[in-house]
Amino acid sequence: MQRRGAISYDSSDQTALYIRMLGSCVIFKQLSARDVRVRSRAGFETERRGSHPYIDFRIFHSNSEIEVSVSARNVRRLLSFQRYLRSSRFFRGITVPNSSNILDDDYNGQAKCMLEKVGNWNFDIFLFDRLTNGNSLVSLTFHLFNLHGLIEHFQLDTMKLRRFLVMVQEDYHSQNPYHNAVHAADVTQAMHCYLKEPKLSESLTPWDVLLSLIAAATHDLDHPGVNQPFLIKTNHYLATLYKNTSVLENHHWRSAVGLLRESGLFAHMSLENRQLMESQIGDLILATDISQQNEYLSMFRSHLDRGDLCLENANHRHFILQMALKCADICNPCRTWELSKQWSEKVTEEFFHQGDIEKKYHLGVSPLCDRQTETIANIQIGFMTYLVEPLFGEWARFSNTRLSQTMLGHLGLNKASWKGVQREQSGSGDDVDPTFEEMDSDILPQEPRLS
Ligand SMILES: [Zn+2]
Repeated sequence: MQRRGAISYDSSDQTALYIRMLGSCVIFKQLSARDVRVRSRAGFETERRGSHPYIDFRIFHSNSEIEVSVSARNVRRLLSFQRYLRSSRFFRGITVPNSSNILDDDYNGQAKCMLEKVGNWNFDIFLFDRLTNGNSLVSLTFHLFNLHGLIEHFQLDTMKLRRFLVMVQEDYHSQNPYHNAVHAADVTQAMHCYLKEPKLSESLTPWDVLLSLIAAATHDLDHPGVNQPFLIKTNHYLATLYKNTSVLENHHWRSAVGLLRESGLFAHMSLENRQLMESQIGDLILATDISQQNEYLSMFRSHLDRGDLCLENANHRHFILQMALKCADICNPCRTWELSKQWSEKVTEEFFHQGDIEKKYHLGVSPLCDRQTETIANIQIGFMTYLVEPLFGEWARFSNTRLSQTMLGHLGLNKASWKGVQREQSGSGDDVDPTFEEMDSDILPQEPRLS
């Protein structure tokens, strides 16, 4: 076993390779001047979001406006990096088109029409994002709050809710190919599909649904587009702050708590309930750390083997919600090929972008990040084999429904399609990473379906 940061792995273990690469995504925030003070299990800790990283990531997504140097002291409001950029454009007289004016009634009508089928597994979040002019996360989550009766049940102020959701959406980095607000909207939509599954819908309380939707919408908040090993090797302050453990997930959670407090959305609730909400949202978001997948999966498996899950029990229910959010987070390969393929391209683009930075700054290229040696097909086949299939296999044991069978069906077909692509590429003389050639197992009988 080697140790890198707090993540241990066995170099011969492919699962660990995927876990190491995909799971330990780390956070990167440089400019924001917000000191978020949130409650952690250990007490109160301050997350300083205005300190200077060793490498300034603004240069990697460079456009002229971020050349302006900014002192945290100059920013009076508590702003995230994303909102900082927007406000600085505003103060310098650079106009950003007002999104609400761009949409015509036809587009609004089509978006509304799509929302009537928000519980369908083939919901096309990319189309929905275009129809809402990039506001898929706000529109979808607001709609789901309404659909589940949460606004009424918790007496929510709809203006505050909308403002909270806009802040959440803006704190995602739109320049990230994958970890952006559309991914968050997609995960929220998947979570909604799981919440509707009979076993869950029968036992969930409005509180459970509220926490699930907030956690899904915020689970990658302020993601920097690079992973945890990257933040560790560049000595980013967040890696130090979170002791190289679930660095990104801790940051997503603390960022979510910061926005919840700033929005005042639940200011009418008791302090005790707000604190409970913050800590339970943390439990859900922290479960999305894929480096912990084996622990969650073996716990899930033991419960299923013993048949002792009792959803009347709040602890069991929250454990299932953690598993549901984990599924929602990595459900891309379980969508239709058309949707799944787009996600695969986006996530690979983000990996390769990190690899490019690592090459440029001689940081050592992370696994799966080298565009010279990796292919989308190889990455996807490994991801499906070692992470997605085991998780969704257990989920289908827990909830053996048409949805679970549909997801497993897409997963099988998509894997076969990527194998077809892989064969085509190796046949044409393209390099295929030899590490993954042995991954080919004939678990899935379908013929490759290329489209
Ligand atoms: Zn995610």
